[in-house]
Amino acid sequence: MQLFHIKLCQEKRYNAPDLSTINGERHSASDAFLKPNLHRQNLRLQSHSQVIKILINGGRRAIGVMYIHNGKVKKVYARKEVILSAGAIDSPKLLLLSGIGPKEQLQTHGIRSVVDLKGVGQNFQDHPLVAGISYTTERNAENLIPMMYGGNSQRDYIRNRTGPLSVPFGVVGYFTVNLGVDPDPNVEDTLFLFQSVLMGTDFGLVGVSTYGYTREVFQDYLREQGGRTGFVITVKLNWPKSRGSVSLRSKNPMEAPVIDPNYLSHPDDVEMLLKSIKYALIIGNTTALKDGLGAKLYDKPLLGCKHLKHGSDDYWRCFVRRMLSIGYHPSGTCKMAPPSDPDGVVSPRLKVRGVEGLRVIDASIMPLITSSNLNAPTMMIGEKGASMIKEDWGYVE
Ligand SMILES: Cc1cc2nc3c(=O)[nH]c(=O)nc-3n(C[C@H](O)[C@H](O)[C@H](O)COP(=O)(O)OP(=O)(O)OC[C@H]3O[C@@H](n4cnc5c(N)ncnc54)[C@H](O)[C@@H]3O)c2cc1C
Repeated sequence: MQLFHIKLCQEKRYNAPDLSTINGERHSASDAFLKPNLHRQNLRLQSHSQVIKILINGGRRAIGVMYIHNGKVKKVYARKEVILSAGAIDSPKLLLLSGIGPKEQLQTHGIRSVVDLKGVGQNFQDHPLVAGISYTTERNAENLIPMMYGGNSQRDYIRNRTGPLSVPFGVVGYFTVNLGVDPDPNVEDTLFLFQSVLMGTDFGLVGVSTYGYTREVFQDYLREQGGRTGFVITVKLNWPKSRGSVSLRSKNPMEAPVIDPNYLSHPDDVEMLLKSIKYALIIGNTTALKDGLGAKLYDKPLLGCKHLKHGSDDYWRCFVRRMLSIGYHPSGTCKMAPPSDPDGVVSPRLKVRGVEGLRVIDASIMPLITSSNLNAPTMMIGEKGASMIKEDWGYVE
């Protein structure tokens, strides 16, 4: 089935996932933007260093950063401005440690307030998903483990960087639809992702921890899938309504912040995921999948939901809560907004409100999470931010 899907993707008969890969390997932002420029005289990379504070002078101007390197606290100063790109968890954490954030929270931790910005760390968003609508298959299904990891597959990958090992964990295709969050029917609010690997196929080695399922759920629900062929339809909300937060645990910069994602706190998110599951079940019941592959819904009752009638709305609501996972797409915690929005943290030119010489450029500035995965949009934010810095300092290309 995996090969069948790859063939369809190559023929562009449905949406193959876009991947940040070169020669079958993940191509990171560091590989794409940083490493090719390390020879430049105006760039110095200082690795193994943790920034612990942004230095702000009495005139409320960011003048540099304090960081720890080889166990020593050091400072580095900026000639023009400081750019904070620590991601949606650490960018708000560093602003808070530097006195930029909700005054009350800073007071609780004994941090002197520089700018009272209540939006710092708020508006946390991610893509909630349910990765467990599983179907076992009988026909046209290769024995998956040897096919995925066997000699031919390894040879293909080593020699040509192609084959099953060049596709992330069996992700083979997707489509998006409007299921009713946005009144505009052209806006696609829900994503359906097809994986040609059952969650329990790998005997709990990778998939279970990737999706954050408990050992109990693996043992009771997924373990029986081990070694079987099949596919999974994952449903994902493009625009969830729930909002979480990132706040300081203490003023110690080495301590992780409190991340409260608050997933499914808005009841509409549960109902939308229920709707998406029903849609996925219709797809799984199509003649193409039923007769073509012998697809059969994996209908073992889920641990924790066994008291509910299997297949009822309440059963699937319970399933949503028990099998909820995420896209690993934290964003929104240093929201870009016009001055009229009291929850904004950065201006449309990504400058932090109330401080001179400080910008945030990463996924934290998204006011609303993008409908897609975040890697490419975040690189776009980086490119746009770089252009704005050059414009503001008169470097015209
Ligand atoms: C496991 C996982 C899988 C993912 N898979 C995909 C995918 O397949 N497709 C996709 O589109 N997106 C994916 N994403 C999401 C994507 O990687 C992120 O959305 C994107 O990297 C966000 O970029 P960013 O610059 O905001 O933050 P980051 O990429 O997190 O960059 C922040 C950087 O700042 C550094 N940093 C943080 N704090 C400090 C500090 N105090 N001092 C010094 N440095 C610091 C961090 O080490 C990091 O290098 C995935 C994310 C995860 C976690």
